[in-house]
Amino acid sequence: MRFINWIKGGIDLEVLFDLQNVRKVYRMGDERIMALDDVSLTFEKGKIYCLLGTSGSGKSTLLNMLAGLEKPTSGTILFKGKPLEKLSETQLALYRQRYIGFVFQSYNLLPTLSALENVTLPLIFRKIPKKKRTSAARAMLKAVGLANRYRHKPSELSGGQQQRVSIARAFVNEPQVIFADEPTGNLDTKTTFEMMDLITGIARERNQTLVIVTHDTEISRYADCVISIRDGNVESILDNDAVYEPDTEEKRSDINEED
Ligand code: ADP
Ligand code: MG
Repeated sequence: MRFINWIKGGIDLEVLFDLQNVRKVYRMGDERIMALDDVSLTFEKGKIYCLLGTSGSGKSTLLNMLAGLEKPTSGTILFKGKPLEKLSETQLALYRQRYIGFVFQSYNLLPTLSALENVTLPLIFRKIPKKKRTSAARAMLKAVGLANRYRHKPSELSGGQQQRVSIARAFVNEPQVIFADEPTGNLDTKTTFEMMDLITGIARERNQTLVIVTHDTEISRYADCVISIRDGNVESILDNDAVYEPDTEEKRSDINEED
């Protein structure tokens, strides 16, 4: 570890996930489906990753295994050095509560709850006292630009706004890792970029690790590291030199001055 840090110029790198020869085979009757063949990868703290690949390549399977929702058929997944596949269901639930936030393509908000109540949920599971969790949820909704939508139900919000609520819910616990599976799959192009600016902006500000699953190369521009998956294998791992930075206020005002 110290050696790696030294090579990378003393930056404090911490390996969060270490996958070693991970294979996942699903059995459907007589058929065997090799969702992941032989995947060895590491994910470091504070970096933004993109799992890029066509539909059916194994991206969601990989994400579900990192989240402890599925166990590998063979191989191991170490989280901070501990094998996830050895944990019991109860331990896995605690692992997700404590370390992981999720953003889904279809938002997965509870329809009968308000935006504020949806964002409060992870804090209830963690037994945070009511006053504290309400103020944390309000602050988080404000941070995603929904300060005037606390009482709205999901059906009273646009798709983009619903995804903002679900981003607030994923981040409110201050998890070390956020998994986003096709987070912009249901959104138009403009909202997609807004959402990507938002989610990567928060993760960078807080030094959280973000793993985004997508089939869209435009989205992969936001990542520090792009892992291409093909037929259940890692095809390439590319460090992104030209990470896409959203226009800052400063840049925008520069442009306006030139006008
Ligand atoms: P992606 O997210 O890249 O579109 P998935 O990881 O969902 O791909 O799926 C990879 C392969 O594994 C596909 O062929 C899919 O049909 C298969 N698969 C995924 N989940 C299951 C499951 N629960 N049972 C059987 N096959 C599955
Ligand atoms: Mg998928």
